[in-house]
Amino acid sequence: MSNNKEAFTLFSTDRSGGISDPPFQSLNLSYGVGDTATAVTENRERLKNHLDIQYLLSTRQVHGDDIFITDNKPTKDLELVGFDALMTDIPAIGLMIQQADCQAVTLFDPLHSAIAAIHCGWKGSVLQILAKTVRAMKTRYNSAASKLHATISPSLGPCCAEFKNHPTELPSSFLAFQVKENYFNFLNISEMQLIDAGLKKENISISGVCTSCSKDYFSYRRARREGKGQTGRCATVIALR
Ligand SMILES: [Zn+2]
Repeated sequence: MSNNKEAFTLFSTDRSGGISDPPFQSLNLSYGVGDTATAVTENRERLKNHLDIQYLLSTRQVHGDDIFITDNKPTKDLELVGFDALMTDIPAIGLMIQQADCQAVTLFDPLHSAIAAIHCGWKGSVLQILAKTVRAMKTRYNSAASKLHATISPSLGPCCAEFKNHPTELPSSFLAFQVKENYFNFLNISEMQLIDAGLKKENISISGVCTSCSKDYFSYRRARREGKGQTGRCATVIALR
């Protein structure tokens, strides 16, 4: 991912560089998957040092569509519960999304100097959390969707996004993004939802890396193929400078 030093920092981790033991080796950034808190805290400290960010704002994501907006400069790291999108216009807060196949989508408004970070799995796609966050940025920061810049992190690619229960789980509008029987391109679904929300296609940057194929990343799908599905979480962080 890019790391634009002028206006904001943006970074997606892979699984290297931390201290966690298997199956969380090594840079697991989630307290909620069975790893030791000591290891996760050290891993988060390493991430903050690497990015030169003082505090992380994160959330125990629940595949919902609630958005947390912060107007206050934190005095310590804060992990919320129950939100799937984070927004701020305060510099030096790292908005962190935790992921193991789900997309982390970031939004940046260069005119009003505001950012958002969104956890978007298939349930988030169904709930239209991307469009909801674009609207929230308009309401709070007067952000024009046509001026927003978006990125979509490494995540589950169309090669691995099998949804056998799609007739009951996914809306029929997603059928246009079925690449073969039961496999869907959620990158293009998110791109479509962002464009429908008013973003310009040229302002949307998509990482093509599939976390289920590449062993550089934690992947829930791969962990489930290989065992019981226990694995760590990578993270995507965005912060205003
Ligand atoms: Zn794949």
